Amino acid sequence: MAQTIAAIEAGGTKFVLALADETGRILVRTRIATTTPEETGAAMRAFFRTEAGRHGTIAGFGIGSFGPVVVNPAEPDYGTVTTTPKPGWSGFRYQDALAEFAVPMLVETDVNAAALGEWRAGAGRSCRTLAYTTVGTGIGTGVLQGGQPLSGMSHFEAGHVPVPHDRALDPFDGSCPYHGGCLEGLASGPAIRARWGRSLDHLGAEEAERIAGYLGDFAAMLVLMHMPERLIFGGGVMKAPGLIERLRRRTETRLAGYVDHARLTPGLADYIVGPELGDEAGITGAVELGMRAAHIRSG
Ligand code: ZN
Repeated sequence: MAQTIAAIEAGGTKFVLALADETGRILVRTRIATTTPEETGAAMRAFFRTEAGRHGTIAGFGIGSFGPVVVNPAEPDYGTVTTTPKPGWSGFRYQDALAEFAVPMLVETDVNAAALGEWRAGAGRSCRTLAYTTVGTGIGTGVLQGGQPLSGMSHFEAGHVPVPHDRALDPFDGSCPYHGGCLEGLASGPAIRARWGRSLDHLGAEEAERIAGYLGDFAAMLVLMHMPERLIFGGGVMKAPGLIERLRRRTETRLAGYVDHARLTPGLADYIVGPELGDEAGITGAVELGMRAAHIRSG
């Protein structure tokens, strides 16, 4: 019987589950609600049990998970969700929930999985170094080098970097419970709603310029610290009309011509781009992780 690859995109409100063939082509998928670990875990096992029976034994699992989650395979608690405010999920470990399948598993953050998806099949194809940022309920960045997500003692938390905050221009304190006006506290979807009472696509040019300012300052940091060959910016907030153009302008202004490279063409239209896979990025990346877990693909 054929071997299959199991993939999970685990989010705060839903889990996307997919079973792919050995080439990474998705054979079947479903989505289940994120409720309790017991209930969601049981639904997940039932899906993979049934579909593996139909399509072939699972050779590996790839998981892109909401966090914080332990992504260092050398840590004893690898694959464990840690300090999430989501009730009941703190301490949940994918390896335990999926132990009955007894196959290798790779666990990454949701943003790193989406970055991998774009690297494999989207706007990040052929980029040796790639930064993928999502701006939505939260803000996160996955940085890949040679198709490998970079991390340190834990995964990056780029959304919480401090950014210049001119309080005369923007008196809002910021919505991050830890830092107030970190990047996420100033430019995430909830920060925009807390400040102006609606989402950015229902606001004006002045508000868009303000948000583009924070994101552009951050994009300049990504360039200076990682020199990615491309920056991808996705997520709900980035769907606001004109935001990516403003973001390009602000980034270019911040870099001030200092970085002289052919990739940084005037206007940055080919350098800062939207995702190509849209909502498919996460599950595509999870399939890639599953293939690596099963050693079908090196990495
Ligand atoms: Zn913060």
